[in-house]
Amino acid sequence: MIQSNASRRELAKGLALMGLLASSSASTSAQAQPTSASAYEAAVKNAYEQFRGLNEGKNADYIPVLAQVPSNYFGVGLCTTGGKLYTAGDIQPQFSIQSVSKVFTLALVLQESGEAAVENSVGVDATGQVFNSITAVEQYRGKEMNPLVNPGAIAMTGTVKGSSPDEIWAKIIGIHSDFAGRQLGVDQVVYKSESDTNQRNRAISMLMSAYERFPGDPAVAVDLYTRQCAIAVTAKDLAVMGATLANGGKNPITGKQALDPRHVPGVLAVMATAGLYDDSGKWLFHTGLPAKSGVGGGIVAVSPGKFGIGTFAPPLDAAGNSVRGQRAIAAISEALGGNPYASRPT
Ligand code: GLN
Repeated sequence: MIQSNASRRELAKGLALMGLLASSSASTSAQAQPTSASAYEAAVKNAYEQFRGLNEGKNADYIPVLAQVPSNYFGVGLCTTGGKLYTAGDIQPQFSIQSVSKVFTLALVLQESGEAAVENSVGVDATGQVFNSITAVEQYRGKEMNPLVNPGAIAMTGTVKGSSPDEIWAKIIGIHSDFAGRQLGVDQVVYKSESDTNQRNRAISMLMSAYERFPGDPAVAVDLYTRQCAIAVTAKDLAVMGATLANGGKNPITGKQALDPRHVPGVLAVMATAGLYDDSGKWLFHTGLPAKSGVGGGIVAVSPGKFGIGTFAPPLDAAGNSVRGQRAIAAISEALGGNPYASRPT
């Protein structure tokens, strides 16, 4: 459940108002007007103000250091495909990217090995299970899953080509940095904390290797995966990374092509299918936005051709998705007409 009854009523009022405006300007309504800078600014600020006091959810604690991150952090960033940034709140603090990294390692594998390598190994379907489900692996011998849950993601990391772990890591941190438009690094404290407690992911890596879902050494794959989850980012970084996906794989700030445009639709489709774990359907139903969350409290969301949004707010709901982040993104996108499925009769 991502909207309260009160916010649904607000939404209904907003839509009614939009309907009135549309009928009074019927002759021009088919022509979409470019969104003004002040509209972007207001959407980001309003969402921040509206949800900053929301105290639902709980920090992840199965990775011990994540429980110690201040729960009241709340940062919101939006980057347009034209490279304009709008931010509110805690936009400076760095946090671990966690599962949001799965998107960018998937992008790397698509770039290196193509769509079939993903579809024929871990698949592109929803599991309907929690992100670190072993049952899901067993059900289809590591197939019929997707690259955004742990088994599929560890297999993707184990599919990146390279003759040494260092060479593979350079590619992984490289593509994340290209998407963010700056050189990213690893939060060593988070990396150690998760490495000390990731027995379950190690088991998942072994199982996926046993089912021959990736060619690499399972111990190396899970270690590199744990490192990629500890990459330190800000909400602004996530906004730029999302905007790069919204912009056909070209970073709108640096101008660098981080991913070939032909791979972008596949990445967005997998995000829409599985980006918010077993709540992905609900999320898509309400927002229409491909998105990806991480247990560090980050979310990236993409409105194709328009903008990317990045949020940071550590407390998570039962599915493992940031509570304030989901609310803020839904409100911003609603205000800006970001839902790619929304169309008007002509
Ligand atoms: N590193 C975390 C894990 O493997 C990532 C999970 C997540 O963000 N949902 O458990």
